[in-house]
Amino acid sequence: MDLPWKPIYTQSAGEFDWEGGISAASDSTDDGSYSPFAYWSLAGTVGFTVLVYVMEGHLDARQKKAYQITEFPNELEATVSKIDSQAKHSEQKEDDAKNSKGSDDNSDDKDAIDMDKPLLEQLQAKFKSSQSYGMDKINFGMVAGTYETFESIAILLLGFTPFLWDQSVRLGETYLGIKSDEEIKITLVFLLLQTLIDTVKSLPFELYKTFMIEKKHGFNKQTYGLFFSDKIKSLILSCIIGGPFVALLLKTIKYGGENFYIYLWAFMFFFSIFMMTIIPVFVMPLFNKYEPLEEGTLKTRIHELAGRIQYPLKKLFVMDGSKRSSHSNAFMFGFGSNKRIVLFDTLLEQVSNNEILAILGHELGHWKLGHTLTNFVVTQVYFGVAFYFFSQCYTSKDLYAAFGFDSTTSGVPTIIALLLFFQTLWAPVDKVLSFVLTVFSRHCEFAADRFSVDLGMSQDLQSGLCKIHLENLGAMCPDGLYSAYHYSHPPLVERLSAMMALEKKKD
Ligand SMILES: [Zn+2]
Repeated sequence: MDLPWKPIYTQSAGEFDWEGGISAASDSTDDGSYSPFAYWSLAGTVGFTVLVYVMEGHLDARQKKAYQITEFPNELEATVSKIDSQAKHSEQKEDDAKNSKGSDDNSDDKDAIDMDKPLLEQLQAKFKSSQSYGMDKINFGMVAGTYETFESIAILLLGFTPFLWDQSVRLGETYLGIKSDEEIKITLVFLLLQTLIDTVKSLPFELYKTFMIEKKHGFNKQTYGLFFSDKIKSLILSCIIGGPFVALLLKTIKYGGENFYIYLWAFMFFFSIFMMTIIPVFVMPLFNKYEPLEEGTLKTRIHELAGRIQYPLKKLFVMDGSKRSSHSNAFMFGFGSNKRIVLFDTLLEQVSNNEILAILGHELGHWKLGHTLTNFVVTQVYFGVAFYFFSQCYTSKDLYAAFGFDSTTSGVPTIIALLLFFQTLWAPVDKVLSFVLTVFSRHCEFAADRFSVDLGMSQDLQSGLCKIHLENLGAMCPDGLYSAYHYSHPPLVERLSAMMALEKKKD
């Protein structure tokens, strides 16, 4: 049967002249008919895109309603007032102890300042701002999502990708002397064009988000100069790293034979390790300054904590996150016995030393409980399975024809086969999988909280989380379905309640 839907631009319609490709190499019989699979693939992809748009739009609308709530959520109020009363209680005890011993510890004077005001009062004071920040973000997300959906459907129906490939062949031939059978070089031209187009397209959205929304709510600290120098640095980096990566990837597929997916998988494995090694050492310092944490109580106590759970901490850095935004964070990285912890300078300002330790207790929990390793293994298995299915579709000529790569004189470029596979056939699998991973991630968050609680830092973790939440204007009453679908971390009130339940069990 003939294809019922075709992109407006197809290669057989354009003047197309290139000699590499998959089906040129394979001896597929070309009788002008298409398999049912290919017959439905374009319509199916458009249909799936619309379906996801409608479903996610529905969730967005629910979350928007949640941001319209004007009353502070009861559940959060009940939970946080418990934290406050606990804090008061332990503060009194501490005071008594201090009075009898004489005060010799004045390192945690930040505690005193923050504890003046109960957390509940602070959260309530920020509730309105948090709702309005959330509302601005969800409105922006809905507009951006609508645009992206229409754009990706337009790209499919217009046949923009085959058009861009043809232009890459032409450009390469005319200006760079690339012959029409040099697939890797043409691919690099194609990807460069694609990257430039994507960068320009996303620029208005990113500018609006950074310099309107984030700025309005007091988070943005970047200048336009920094914003654009970041962009240029990232572009150069993606050329330096992405170029050789794509070239090697294509060679692996080309010379891998029938079972190329095994070699492709091995290649991705080593590339992941390579990236994990070079990113912290060479890439991250291009964007931020990392300075060793100054000597003092905090440093000693973090090393003590690491020692307590046998975490091989080699270095402890403070990163100038405040250069871009006042959002705060902490993370760790490194292989084997060469581990590093990075604290944002913004985090040091926002919470007390005890709370930083409790938060690190949580982060170290991710490591101790094997979450970091599990994530790596899951990613690798994912690549293995995806590449296997890709290898099964790789030579399906009529599938590519459905997306406009229908030239009978030449074959489909390997990169196009890869892109089409991941953007179309694999997209539903991706959606389901990313949901499963989000659920798993929340499970890990609870487990890491439990780890910190078991280290005896429950109260500090609870108050630390509240402070980070209010400093970042996190959602205080998110919609249940929306958070179940999107949130990698459980909502604040759920984490606090879970920790309290653990404490109760202990008593
Ligand atoms: Zn976590």
